[in-house]
Amino acid sequence: MTRIIIAGGGIAGIAAAIAAAKAGCEAVVLERAAAFEEVGAGIQMGPNGRRALESLGVWEALERHAVMPGAINIRRAADGALLGQVPLDKRFRERFGTSYQVVHRADLLNALLEVARATPGIELQNGRRVSFYKTSDGAISALTDDGCEEAGDALIGADGIRSSIREQLLGDGPPVLAGHVLYRALADIEDVPEAVDTSCVTLWLHKGGHVVHYPVSAGRKFNIVVAVNEDWRSDKWSTPSRGEILTEVFSGVDSRLKAVLDIPRKWLRWAGADRKPAPLWGKGRMTLIGDAAHPTLPYLASGAVMALEDAVVLGQRLAANRDDPAAAFRSCETIRQPRAARIVESSHKLAGVYHAGPPLSFFRDQFIRFSSGRRGMERMAWLYDWRP
Ligand SMILES: Cc1cc2nc3c(=O)[nH]c(=O)nc-3n(C[C@H](O)[C@H](O)[C@H](O)COP(=O)(O)OP(=O)(O)OC[C@H]3O[C@@H](n4cnc5c(N)ncnc54)[C@H](O)[C@@H]3O)c2cc1C
Repeated sequence: MTRIIIAGGGIAGIAAAIAAAKAGCEAVVLERAAAFEEVGAGIQMGPNGRRALESLGVWEALERHAVMPGAINIRRAADGALLGQVPLDKRFRERFGTSYQVVHRADLLNALLEVARATPGIELQNGRRVSFYKTSDGAISALTDDGCEEAGDALIGADGIRSSIREQLLGDGPPVLAGHVLYRALADIEDVPEAVDTSCVTLWLHKGGHVVHYPVSAGRKFNIVVAVNEDWRSDKWSTPSRGEILTEVFSGVDSRLKAVLDIPRKWLRWAGADRKPAPLWGKGRMTLIGDAAHPTLPYLASGAVMALEDAVVLGQRLAANRDDPAAAFRSCETIRQPRAARIVESSHKLAGVYHAGPPLSFFRDQFIRFSSGRRGMERMAWLYDWRP
């Protein structure tokens, strides 16, 4: 049986283990952290995300924690004007064949872990940081910080945006900081003032920053993400902050947005980064997936969903090339690369558009008004129409 070593036990790594096991392979996940965990932040999942989870057999474990928002509302932060709306109603579900969902990252990872633990052929190991890999005739091994070697027939680098597997393969240095800092907070839904809409995804656009909020964890929690133009540098994913800059950037905004920004006493911040699409995701018996392959700014809300899609396609290719993982990996890359590149590039462009001031913001707002409703739905079809 083909034995696949997976470096990294985040969304991409666990999803890949499930997909590989379903394809008849053995999967060993090496995760550097002492426990599998995700810190608080929400994930928006278009219909493509739900389809990927259904294909992996994970949706059932997640469904009870997921929320189906009523709409995506885009508002101007200065005065609260509704610029555009994509209803996520019956019509949306009929158009795409399934729903748009919002979930907590921890709920998603736990659902993946629940399925992985129940799937024969998957071994999950914590406290094992992969520092590099080496290849020999017909085999590949991951070398871990504890001085051990884990040998297999193939290796998947699912070790995130600062992937050491990628560094060894491509040597393209650290990811590129975007000059945007993302502040995240999670509140109890009872702490959200009544005037704030907690049933929808709301996107507030402002000069120099934007805010997104929506409910997660079966509606018990309220997820808030704020992105601002800020030159703060760090390679850490979760640095505590009091978010002083937010008061400055969003001074004088609509009272509902102000009420949202006043909720958290503490934020976690991340210096937003991405990379230009890579020409190569692997070589021979190894490949990269998820953020290790295609880290993206989160403005199309698609990084985690892309990791799930990667895993599904990888599983399909492994099933078709069970004794030849190298062929499966190359074929997966060929299928996935153009889509991943489009998402990375589109998200990067949105960064400038979302934070624009006049006169660009005037044309942006006109465009959002024009593509509201059904037109907005069709504009996103290239992203949401993906099927396993
Ligand atoms: C603010 C914000 C909002 C977002 N919102 C959305 C959204 O709405 N929708 C969406 O789809 N995506 C969203 N994303 C993107 C999404 O979070 C990521 O794309 C996704 O988590 C990538 O998963 P991954 O498993 O590839 O990487 P990671 O989640 O980074 O997982 C990598 C794993 O590998 C481990 N690891 C790292 N190095 C090693 C090593 N050397 N050896 C062993 N283990 C290692 C890490 O500990 C970690 O567990 C958002 C991101 C941000 C920052």
